[in-house]
Amino acid sequence: MRIDKLLANVGYGSRKEVKSLLKSGAVVVNDQVVKDAKAHVDPEVDHVTVHNEQVVYREFIYLMMNKPQGLISATEDNFQETVIDILEPEDAAMEPFPVGRLDKDTEGLLLITNDGQLAHQLLSPKKHVPKTYFAVINSEVSESDIEEFSKGVTLDDGYHTKPGELRIIKSGLTSDIELTIMEGKFHQVKRMFEAVGKRVIYLKRISMGSLTLDEELELGEYRELTDEELFALR
Ligand code: URA
Repeated sequence: MRIDKLLANVGYGSRKEVKSLLKSGAVVVNDQVVKDAKAHVDPEVDHVTVHNEQVVYREFIYLMMNKPQGLISATEDNFQETVIDILEPEDAAMEPFPVGRLDKDTEGLLLITNDGQLAHQLLSPKKHVPKTYFAVINSEVSESDIEEFSKGVTLDDGYHTKPGELRIIKSGLTSDIELTIMEGKFHQVKRMFEAVGKRVIYLKRISMGSLTLDEELELGEYRELTDEELFALR
């Protein structure tokens, strides 16, 4: 790949900034100063340093974010802040994207990666990757809702969902529940509750496939997946 792309990807600034870094003679590839931004390097083989510090190249990045409310699950937007906007510049430089969408007012587990193959695998309807949500509902959730959800419910557009596994944590004037679904239709959890005459007033995703939200992460914080998490996800 081009040396300017490599350096930009690992966080040495924009292509323009990297160009002047190269011009300054700070970049050395296999003991030779390289000033040409178009020069090609093989990050797996060549030894690249900037100001004598070794450049470690990674092709893929895998981040777990505890998404806060108020951000949209997109890579860029002219008007609204996205989940990518709050990444450190060196992470954003690797051009990751959110795997699937959480609504602007939904919190919780969001995987952010630049690994298109993994994203495809997790989002493919054929793979039936389970997603579990914690929600607060505006009224009493009962055994009959568990029953309804277990048969699938009909959404406002006529679509009949696959079965959902509903667990009641606390039932009362408002209820706390967990719901596991195998699909990811637009606003699915909110619309499933609408189908039984109830409203979601708070929603948080707590797991996706084998990946569980790290409760140590504050809202808006993120971390890299561990090797074990990544292995299990594939
Ligand atoms: N279902 C919803 O209604 N919203 C989300 O953000 C995710 C699932």
